[in-house]
Amino acid sequence: MTRPLFVNHASAIAGAELILIDALQSWPGASVFLFDHGPLETVLADQNFEVTISHWGGGKLATMRRDTDALRALPLLMRFSAITLELAKAALGHDVIYANSQKAFVVAAIASALVRKPLIWHLHDIISAAHFGKSQRRLQITLANRRAARIIVPSPAAADAFIAEGGRPGLVTVVPNGLNMALDSRSKADIRAELALPEGPLVGVFSRLAAWKGQHVLLQALKSLHGVRCIVAGEALFGEQAYADHLNDLAAEADLAGRVLFLGPRSDVPLLMQAVDVMVHPSIHPEPFGRTLVEAMLAGTPVIASDAGACREILDGGKAGTLVPPNDPRALADALTAVLARPSGLDAQLRYATERAKSFYGADAMRAAISTIITDVAKEARH
Ligand code: UDP
Repeated sequence: MTRPLFVNHASAIAGAELILIDALQSWPGASVFLFDHGPLETVLADQNFEVTISHWGGGKLATMRRDTDALRALPLLMRFSAITLELAKAALGHDVIYANSQKAFVVAAIASALVRKPLIWHLHDIISAAHFGKSQRRLQITLANRRAARIIVPSPAAADAFIAEGGRPGLVTVVPNGLNMALDSRSKADIRAELALPEGPLVGVFSRLAAWKGQHVLLQALKSLHGVRCIVAGEALFGEQAYADHLNDLAAEADLAGRVLFLGPRSDVPLLMQAVDVMVHPSIHPEPFGRTLVEAMLAGTPVIASDAGACREILDGGKAGTLVPPNDPRALADALTAVLARPSGLDAQLRYATERAKSFYGADAMRAAISTIITDVAKEARH
């Protein structure tokens, strides 16, 4: 029987961690190695996974940001070395390592070489200058080409970016992120009443608070849309508190005051998705995927998303939602005005979007595809 060791650096729960939790459902009781204590550890331990926390992860690794260059990262290398040895030791009882994040992959690439285990990288990022510094990109690609047996990406956009940076095309398999979502049968008005949300036109944005996620673009767009309110779910997860403060300042400006509701991190996003009139995904850089698009499509809520990265594909070029140029508040305001007017044809578009989400982005298909890759890689290594 295949015994994978799953590795993730973050213990906060963002999109990639939600995918990991889902993927793990095919591997009851599996071993998971995390760099640090936190909410992900709690969720996995509650589901009876065997969770190991590094003794060395701690707060300091969080200071290793995506744009940190090699020289400034030097003081952290000792800590990385210690985690690498810890991970190598943990991997001894397993036949394949599955790294679910960029930092986890870098550590696992070295650990896997030490103990001669095959390595799978589930790459949840667009590798490009917008997201990573030059030396980080070079390191990722070099290690990927040398050490990865397979690289799983959630979209052709993420695959193209990896290959454009020099990654070997033959390593890559696209496995679209998948999710299942239970719907509430109550009316929008009833759900809003229960959640104490306002009546009238209501827009929602549901991501961690981070500059590239572009919540500020939505707030700028709302300035010209009098009478339209907005809910902002999510928190600053990876050192983006200054951006969260900036959003609060923006929302307090006279032409927005009282119209933006910050909800903080929520565990009832599916319900909130059903409560709003439009879900906006305003990223200013290309997205590797965008679970929130699929959630809104399943909820039957219109989507307006930046035309970059995977959003175009998820929305089928605009057939399953509205695409707008990234970082363009005026274009977003125009799109919001159009969708909030509920044009004829919108209901048909929503039905198409729900069908598309169910057909292409279900959790079962994702789990099966990931499990097959894990099993195949372990089998190849045995032979
Ligand atoms: N999310 C959540 N609570 C919040 C805000 C977001 O559970 O308060 C969820 C959201 O519903 C989605 C995920 O976080 O499932 C974000 O995934 P996405 O792919 O959109 O972005 P990522 O975090 O991977 O960049």
